[in-house]
Amino acid sequence: MARVFIGLGSNLSDPVRQLKRAIEHLKLLEKTSVMRCSSFYCSKPQGPQDQPDFVNAVCLIDTLLSPERLLLALQDIEQTQGRVKQRHWGERLIDLDILLFDDRIISWPHLTIPHSEIAHRDFVLVPLSEIAPDTVIPNMGTVTSLIAQLDNSYLYPIQP
Ligand code: AMP
Repeated sequence: MARVFIGLGSNLSDPVRQLKRAIEHLKLLEKTSVMRCSSFYCSKPQGPQDQPDFVNAVCLIDTLLSPERLLLALQDIEQTQGRVKQRHWGERLIDLDILLFDDRIISWPHLTIPHSEIAHRDFVLVPLSEIAPDTVIPNMGTVTSLIAQLDNSYLYPIQP
């Protein structure tokens, strides 16, 4: 079984509902168990500011799927929920990222693990540390040390 962290984000069409739906879809994945999910957090958009705030969370799953197969499964969930990509770093119905896959380091053209932005995103690191505070990110250090280097000015937990 691989221990995998998935990042979830949405800022359209009732984001809390979108995250809950995505977690239900994760629970239905073959050879996969959802072990833990963080609180939901509200965050400011990273790219264009003329879009709604995001709701983010992180889930820990155990899976027998390969990284490749898991990526395809996450993209299927995004399509099922009706994700339409509008612009780079723009608004989205649901975004699912593989943050960590055991302690593997992958640099394929279509898949980078650890996720390329993991060290810079408070909306990933804070929920990750909530459910797995001792996590070490390969080649980057502990999640706690990365959080200490961040300015998390606008991240707060919300009650779903
Ligand atoms: P995004 O706009 O963030 O949803 O990016 C989607 C693209 O990122 C897809 O084409 C994926 O192949 C690629 N990608 C690279 N690394 C990852 C990762 N760790 N998790 C999810 N998608 C990834």
